[in-house]
Amino acid sequence: MYEPSLSTEVQYLKGVGPRLAPGLNKAELRTVEDVLLRLPRRYEDRTAMPPIASLKQGQWATIRGRVSRVETKTMRRGMVMLRAHVKDGTGTICLIWFNQPWIKGQLERGGGEVVAYGQIKEGQGRLLEITGPEWEPVGEDSDPEDFGRIVPVYPLVEGLTQKTMRRAVRSALERYLPLVQETLPEKFLKRQKLCGLRWALGQIHFPEDESSRLEARRRLVFDEFFYLQVGMAMKRAETHAERGIAFPVKDLLKGRPAVLDPAASHLFDAEERSARDHEPLMEQIHRIFPFQLTSAQERVLNEIWSDMASPHPMNRLVQGDVGSGKTAIAICALLTAIRSGYQAAIMAPTEILAEQHFVNVHKLLEPLGVRVQLMVGKNSARDKKRALHAAEVGTAHLVIGTHALIQEGVKFARLGLVIVDEQHRFGVMQRKALRDKASGNPDVLVMTATPIPRTLTMAVYGDLDLSVIDELPPGRRPIKTHWKRLADREEVYAAVRKLIEEGKQGYFVCPLVSETENMMAQAAEDLYFRLQEGPLEGLRVGLLHGQLKPAEKETVMEQFRRHELDVLVSTTVIEVGVDVPNASIMVIEDANRFGLSQLHQLRGRVGRGSTQSFCVLIADARGEDAKTRMLTMVETNDGFRIAETDLKLRGPGMLAGTQQSGNADFKVADLVQDGRMLEVARQAAIEVIANDPHLAAKEWAAVREKVMSKRSELAVVSVS
Ligand code: ADP
Ligand code: MG
Repeated sequence: MYEPSLSTEVQYLKGVGPRLAPGLNKAELRTVEDVLLRLPRRYEDRTAMPPIASLKQGQWATIRGRVSRVETKTMRRGMVMLRAHVKDGTGTICLIWFNQPWIKGQLERGGGEVVAYGQIKEGQGRLLEITGPEWEPVGEDSDPEDFGRIVPVYPLVEGLTQKTMRRAVRSALERYLPLVQETLPEKFLKRQKLCGLRWALGQIHFPEDESSRLEARRRLVFDEFFYLQVGMAMKRAETHAERGIAFPVKDLLKGRPAVLDPAASHLFDAEERSARDHEPLMEQIHRIFPFQLTSAQERVLNEIWSDMASPHPMNRLVQGDVGSGKTAIAICALLTAIRSGYQAAIMAPTEILAEQHFVNVHKLLEPLGVRVQLMVGKNSARDKKRALHAAEVGTAHLVIGTHALIQEGVKFARLGLVIVDEQHRFGVMQRKALRDKASGNPDVLVMTATPIPRTLTMAVYGDLDLSVIDELPPGRRPIKTHWKRLADREEVYAAVRKLIEEGKQGYFVCPLVSETENMMAQAAEDLYFRLQEGPLEGLRVGLLHGQLKPAEKETVMEQFRRHELDVLVSTTVIEVGVDVPNASIMVIEDANRFGLSQLHQLRGRVGRGSTQSFCVLIADARGEDAKTRMLTMVETNDGFRIAETDLKLRGPGMLAGTQQSGNADFKVADLVQDGRMLEVARQAAIEVIANDPHLAAKEWAAVREKVMSKRSELAVVSVS
């Protein structure tokens, strides 16, 4: 005999059977459990359906009435309009459909009574109407339970009706709900003020009232966040328990040279060491930087040092707005690792950025005897061979590169610290590949300039420890941002020209015409010629895009850095990390084509020196969202606020850093609206794991099982 279980196929549900099962299957509902977990898209409150006479223009409403007349009209360009007059005793409303003539038959078959939902408009002759309503016939065989209560509305596919879906859910609830096992311990539920799982599933489909629905939803959202956060907390606890390198940070701070492992002695020559290694680390840092670290930088550096000193691997994310001084902190960490007798590596997302790091780091650390090696894809064969050798035998203390770093054949003698810059450009697997280049368990520092709303950070990077540099170096003047229409272009160019003639430098970012490098290069060239032959004639204008040869890129950047160029016309290749303090003007053409966070990144290329910087967004923004985006840019320089707005406008899936993770795909939860709940679930998960790192206690068995089954997915999204 068939044993009923949650994995029973849907065709065995009462009222479904083999005839209606294919429709459910098509919506990817195969088992009873699938049906129970397919949540309504919205609800219709049919406890009080408003009388038609009371409806107001603009209102969303569900109405019930009898079809009194159906007209079909052929309009211009062959469009067919169907109008059904529906009466409920108080008034008449028209339901309108375009090019769906078959609806006529459906209306008649239903016996004439319908329920419809949509937005109320006033049409011709002030008659109320709903265009393209959601509707269903109230036939003789329709479930009386679908009326006089709050009714779920499910996402459908062709071949699946609301009626079938509701029937399937109803019989799944009746027969199978008792089989659902509670997953969380009784005491825990009490403490977190959560309802039981069974009750929640019942109420989420057919809520008694709005407050029950909210309570049910709260439980399901909690569950969704909680399993993920428990998984991440476990992962973090495991990383913390692994053996890693205990860098002698204390000794370095006191100026005692690190006692090197004999295996590392060949990495250093004695003379260099004595020059470098007797200076207390903090004094050395103060000496090489022409500025004081901000207190936020100091705090983050101490967090990094405490990780480095511990005998377990570091796995930390440093988040900071553009220009907050992350690179400076990275250099401090590098110096720490190298003085301890280890090699370090930096992986940057573009060659321009890798080269820039190379220039900066080389300038700062080379006088201390640190040997820095650049490794980029387009190195000549001879350079490549030399770089590989230097990394492998250890004559290079620090290797800076792009993806080239993780290619096969790259080996390190003694890699101790890995820094991944501008992390969102890299896939998770690439980070892992770099980490695997070390024989032991190196420390990993991930740095991102993309401010991510806190909720997303927790959802996506919950397995990393987080440090935030939430302060900009002093003396920065906030960038002034202006939004100009396309028609004002010439005026903008003239103003920019004037500033440049006063000795400033500026960037022009070309329109985002397409994702392909080739097309982008073309757009940059067009703008370059247009500016050079017109509004900026006589100024020194350079061109930068992804299609240039590395040497050409390097030359252009170097010329711009040395102020041998006044203006740089560029694609988004300058988006990340490019740092030329004298550049104080940024003009972004067709700014409405860029995402908010991307605009913020681009704008971050200016405002790096002490003079007033300007950013001009050229855009004819149509539509509310476009306007909101431009105005947000004008109003704030705060990357975190911008990221929050981006999240609200575009949803989590579009934000940098989440595309590859899939982690932002929640079934019930909504990262925009449920941020607080995520925090609650995360805190609860951390506490649970602190008390029982392996969830060994019997009361956690169900959670453990759930988390473990998700583990394979998680492995793909974490760094280690
Ligand atoms: P990020 O990597 O976060 O964008 P950088 O480390 O590149 O920031 O720093 C941006 C600019 O600010 C650089 O020119 C850097 O030299 C400078 N800078 C960094 N930290 C400080 C500080 N504490 N005081 C003054 N200037 C700083
Ligand atoms: Mg940077």
